[in-house]
Amino acid sequence: MTQHSTGRITRRSALAAGAALGAGALGASQAMAAAPGPEAPVPSDPRLGSAPEPLKLNEAVGTTAAVSCVDPYASDIGLSILQGGGSAMDAAVAMAAALGVTEPYSCGIGGGGFLLYRDAATGLVHTIDGRETAPMSYTETQFTDASGAELDFDAVVNSGLSIGVPGTPAMWALAAERFGTLPLGALLEPAEQLARRGFVVDQHFHSQTDENAERFSRFPETARVFLRDGSAPEVGSTFANPDLAEVYRRLRTEGIDVFYRGDIGAAILAEANAPSAVSGQEVQGSPMTAADLARYSPVLRAPTVSAYRGMTVFGMAAPSSGGVAVGEILNLLEHYELRTGIGLAQLGETDYLHRFSEACATAFADRNRWVGDVADVPYAELLGDGFAAERAEIMRPSSARPRPIPFGWPDGDYTTAPPAGAAQPEPYEGQSTTHLNVVDQWGNAVSYTLTIEQTGGSGITVPGHGFLLNNELTDFNFVPVTPGVPDPNLPGPGKRPRSSMAPTIITDATGLRLVVGTPGGATIITSVAQIIAGHFERGLPLVDAIAAPRLSSRNDEDGEETDLGLAGSPAGRGLTGLGHHLAPREEKNWIGNASGISREAIGLVAAAETVRGGGGAARAW
Ligand code: GLU
Repeated sequence: MTQHSTGRITRRSALAAGAALGAGALGASQAMAAAPGPEAPVPSDPRLGSAPEPLKLNEAVGTTAAVSCVDPYASDIGLSILQGGGSAMDAAVAMAAALGVTEPYSCGIGGGGFLLYRDAATGLVHTIDGRETAPMSYTETQFTDASGAELDFDAVVNSGLSIGVPGTPAMWALAAERFGTLPLGALLEPAEQLARRGFVVDQHFHSQTDENAERFSRFPETARVFLRDGSAPEVGSTFANPDLAEVYRRLRTEGIDVFYRGDIGAAILAEANAPSAVSGQEVQGSPMTAADLARYSPVLRAPTVSAYRGMTVFGMAAPSSGGVAVGEILNLLEHYELRTGIGLAQLGETDYLHRFSEACATAFADRNRWVGDVADVPYAELLGDGFAAERAEIMRPSSARPRPIPFGWPDGDYTTAPPAGAAQPEPYEGQSTTHLNVVDQWGNAVSYTLTIEQTGGSGITVPGHGFLLNNELTDFNFVPVTPGVPDPNLPGPGKRPRSSMAPTIITDATGLRLVVGTPGGATIITSVAQIIAGHFERGLPLVDAIAAPRLSSRNDEDGEETDLGLAGSPAGRGLTGLGHHLAPREEKNWIGNASGISREAIGLVAAAETVRGGGGAARAW
C-alpha cells in the first residue's frame, strides 16, 4: 500500500543519510562543549546565517538512538545531543527549545505541553503536565457576557483573556532536573545559537506567517518580530530572532525565575494585562497577576494505561483527554473485533475506516462528558473492558450511527442497559502545535507534544523578548457543550483547559514498541489512534501509517468527519455509501506533522510525514 508519492527514501538510504546527517549536523561537540558556560554569551556567527536548510527525511533507521519531529534543525540538534552522550530527556528539551525558534507559531516558551518519559531501566512511564493555567480570578462564566451569551471566539483568541500562564519553561526545568543528565543551561544553548544566527525560511513558515499577517499586524511588536515590511519573510531568506536568543541566554544563565518572578515575567504581565495594539483596535487585557505567574508549577502525573493487543498503551491524563480517548478508541476496535470475530486486518479499507470512525465518535462523546481538569475523571472505567464492551454494542456494522453520539456511563455496571446519555458534540479546538520523539542509546524514550494553541497563539508578542503568548484558555468550553449536562471543561480559578494532545508510548513484554504523537487540535486523538491501528493492525510500516489518508470523526453535531485525502477514492465513496459525511480539507490545510519511532527487528525506525505540512525530519544513529 503506497499512499505517498514524494520524499520517501529507502530504508537503506535512510540509514546512510541519517548517519551522514548526524555527523554533519550541529556536531555533538559543538552542542555540548559550551554546556554550562553561564556568563559567556554565545557569539553570533554571521557565516552560519547563510547555511542551507538541513535536509528533511521521512524515515531513518538506526541501531542506537533516534529522533523525529517536523523540523530538521530540531532533529539535528536532538541527534547531536544523543551522539554526544546525552539522554532522551536532554535531547527532548533541546529539540523543544529549537522548535520554539523554528516553529514559533506552534510552540515556544509562551505556551505549554505534555510529555511522556519512559525510563528503560525501570520500565516506568512518567508524565509531565506543563499545561497553561487560568488566572485565579477566572470563573465558570469567564467567557460569557452579562446575558449569559458566549463572548465572540475570535475576539477572545486575540486578546489577553485567552492567555494562560505559560508552562513550558518550568516544564523544561523540571524535565531536565528530574530526568535529564545535563543542566538546562546546556540544553538551551543550541537553540540560542539557532535563534541568533537564524534559520532558512521554508514554504511552511512563509505560509503560516502569511496566513497570520493581517492578525499579526494588529500588534506592532508581533509585526516587528515576525513580519518584514508587513509581509511574511521570503522563502529562502534567513529568519533570526535575537530577542528570543537573549531570553534563552538569560534562562540558561539565570534560571527560569527571571520568567516567573523576574523582569521577563513583568514584561509578560504588562503585555498580557494591556496588549499593545495598533490604534483603533480594542483588545481586552488579561487579569493575570504576578501571583498567578509565580505560582505556576508543572505537575508530575501518572500516565493513563490501557491494554491493546497484548501491549500496554501509555498516554497523558487530564487535563489532557489524549490518553483516555486514544485508549478508548483502541479498546473499541478490539471489542468490535470480539463481537464480530473479524479483525481490522481482515477488512477492506472502507469497512476498516467505518469501524474506526465509529470508535472515534464514541470516544469523543465520552471524553467530552467525563474528561477535564476535574478531580473525578473515571480513568479505570473509561479505559476498562466492561465499558468498552458496553460501548461497542452501539456500533452498526454497515451504517454510520447518527451524530452526535450520546455519551456512555462509565459507572462500573455493564450488565444492564445504561440510561441514554445526552449528545456530546465536539466543541471547537484549534489546529496547530508540534510534536517530537526521542529514543536514546539506553532505550529511554520521550514523547512530547507542545503548543501555544492556535497557529500564532494569541498573536501577542512580549515586547523585546521575541516570543508569542498562547491562547490556550480558549480550549475551555465557553458554555456547557450540552445545556443541563455537567461539563468538566468550563473555566475556573487556576484551572487548566482540557487538551487533545496525545503523546503516546507503547510497550510490550520485550520493552519499547512505539513512540508517537502529532499536532492538530482535536484531530490529534484520531490521528494518533489511526497511526497506531495502521501500524499494528493494518500492517503498515510506521512511515506509511503516518502518511496514510486520514479520517477524523469527532462526533461533530453536523456529523462531518475531517478527511485528508479520502474524497474521491474508492474508500471515500464507500464511506459516503455507509452514511459518513466526509468533509475534505483543502490540501494546504492538511495539518499533519505526525511523527514517531518504532522499535523493530532491524532497529529503531524514526518516521515523519512525507508530504503533509511540508514533510518532517527523522534521524537515527
Ligand atoms: N490546544 C490544543 C490542545 O491542547 C492543541 C492545539 C492544536 O493542536 O491545535 O489540544
